[in-house]
Amino acid sequence: MKIENPHPFPWQFAERASQMQSSFIREILKVTQQPEIISFAGGLPSPATFPVERMQAAFDKVLRDNGKVALQYGPTDGYLPLRQWIADSLSTNGAKIVPEQVLMTSGSQQALDLLGKVLIDEGSKVLVETPSYLGALQAFSVYRPNFVSVATDEDGLVPSSLNDVAAGARLLYALPNFQNPTGRSLSIARRQELVETCARLGVPLVEDDPYGSLSYKGEPAPKMVAMNPDGVIYMGSFSKVLTPGIRLGYVVAPLALVRRLELAKQAADLHTSQLTQMVVHEVIKDGFLDQHIPTIRTLYGDQCQCMLDAMAEHFPASATWTKPEGGMFIWVKLPKQINAMELLDEAIKQKVAFVPGAPFYANEPETNTLRLSFVTVPPERIRAGVAILGKLIAERL
Ligand code: PMP
Repeated sequence: MKIENPHPFPWQFAERASQMQSSFIREILKVTQQPEIISFAGGLPSPATFPVERMQAAFDKVLRDNGKVALQYGPTDGYLPLRQWIADSLSTNGAKIVPEQVLMTSGSQQALDLLGKVLIDEGSKVLVETPSYLGALQAFSVYRPNFVSVATDEDGLVPSSLNDVAAGARLLYALPNFQNPTGRSLSIARRQELVETCARLGVPLVEDDPYGSLSYKGEPAPKMVAMNPDGVIYMGSFSKVLTPGIRLGYVVAPLALVRRLELAKQAADLHTSQLTQMVVHEVIKDGFLDQHIPTIRTLYGDQCQCMLDAMAEHFPASATWTKPEGGMFIWVKLPKQINAMELLDEAIKQKVAFVPGAPFYANEPETNTLRLSFVTVPPERIRAGVAILGKLIAERL
């Protein structure tokens, strides 16, 4: 029997749903996944670094030894041994983080949504870097904040600029290490100043840190959460140090907040896969990351250098760009008259892709900026792609 539908689509969406926008990056990824395109657009980690055999062995072991627990529903806050491991790894510089402060999430992206749900009302002031991580802007936007862009310079966020704008803000969202999209990091002095300023002004400081251990050269920089565990909300992820497909992240917060986040998570998805958490714990518990992460750093560091060398050769002197010391991204500023969206159209015709910078701005975009990622592209294709981009930019001067 065919049912008649006298009320034609569209149905009435909630106001928040009618305002939702697709992430621009996810849209261009659809175009750039064709193999003939040299794509500097993706934020994907290199699959060459995924420890497939190690994961397989851990899945086998967990299912063999503890299958009935791994396949059952689990607690909302997460698998305790893994939360303990995270708390211990963050208890540096004399700070003491306890496992009760750690909430496991389905990717750290979920932590952004939960933070939005718990901290942001319509019109709440939310402070973000200029530019900032697009996925955070997208996650927070659903809760309709008033985004206020905090001043940045060549060294990242300028803590003193908070004094004029931060009063009453629900949170400051900061990316201190190898920021997405710019690749910039905050100096130790600025971290201290930022932590002190937020504490003085009573603004919760969110430290989003998926790239912190991917420093090419030295030791990872000190974490702001260890400087003030009562004033900082820390977000971490296994996406960039193991694999993103397992969707495993975490948020660390003062107890009263973590409890609220846990309630929000209960409503969202009950809990993050217990099997995945047990497998990741099995993989990392005996120090695997200490051997594994250096191989990622070397690969990304070499490819970053290859891209920087190619840019020095092919890009005109009037363009400037960041020189990251870790992470996955380089940020380019073109001469003012060049619109990176228009440049992208031309670049795709020549089989090269990147992400224009404008969507990373919460407020006034700088349309002459763009983000390049080098981690999934082999050196010869990096050189070929950068040469094409350099030529396209030069033609527009
Ligand atoms: N924060 C930042 C800054 C990111 O770049 C990403 C991923 N691109 C995330 C959070 C989310 O990562 P995941 O959900 O995979 O942990």
